Amino acid sequence: MKINIAIDGPSASGKSTIAKRLAKALGYVHIDTGAMYRCVAYLAIKSNIDLSDEKSLGKMAETMDIELSTDGRVFLDQEDVTEAIRNEDISVGASKVSIYANVRRAMVKRQQKMAEAKGFIVDGRDIGTVVLPDAELKIFQTASATSRAKRRYKENLQKGIHSDFELLKNEIEQRDFQDTHRKESPLKKADDAIEIDTSDMTVEQVVSKIISLISERSKFYD
Ligand code: C5P
Repeated sequence: MKINIAIDGPSASGKSTIAKRLAKALGYVHIDTGAMYRCVAYLAIKSNIDLSDEKSLGKMAETMDIELSTDGRVFLDQEDVTEAIRNEDISVGASKVSIYANVRRAMVKRQQKMAEAKGFIVDGRDIGTVVLPDAELKIFQTASATSRAKRRYKENLQKGIHSDFELLKNEIEQRDFQDTHRKESPLKKADDAIEIDTSDMTVEQVVSKIISLISERSKFYD
């Protein structure tokens, strides 16, 4: 039987990469909840809404249309924003707008509706604790700030973007601080989550470890 899998963890720990690979290998559907908070930041900036204007952000979060297609593309009010939401301004903005309870409420409601059935791999910060507290398997995926910054640095190089390693590491640490210290749904390992430190693991190693956890867990629910 298919189950639901929650993958939480800090920024740039590779959750989406792993979730995508798992979904493809197992025929599951991946929900990237970070992309949804990125859409909130993107639309707020585009609409000249101040990122600290909680009331307007909340209203916007309730009415905006976000679609996550099964091939990984992200549509905001029918506009394809898949690449646009990945830039650094939006990363910082997403971390800012996601502190507000009304923004989170609107997103969590959508996420719970999307994953009503089984067969979803949902990645984010509060999936195992708030969005899907009953998920059959919960993973808490971590990696040291240095190894996350190294991965980001390499990714940027491959894309032809020159970046400053120390700056990248600082930004990652800042987002970690903001995500773990906010009042609403801070990033936290669920009591029943399995922690995987991926600092010295390859993508393939992480994927195969989680696949074996999924097959073990699925047997239990057969
Ligand atoms: O995962 P990603 O880096 O795309 O997420 C962008 C930001 O959205 C995070 O820094 C975090 O502040 C926020 N987020 C959140 N809850 C989630 C997913 C993301 O607060 N479930």
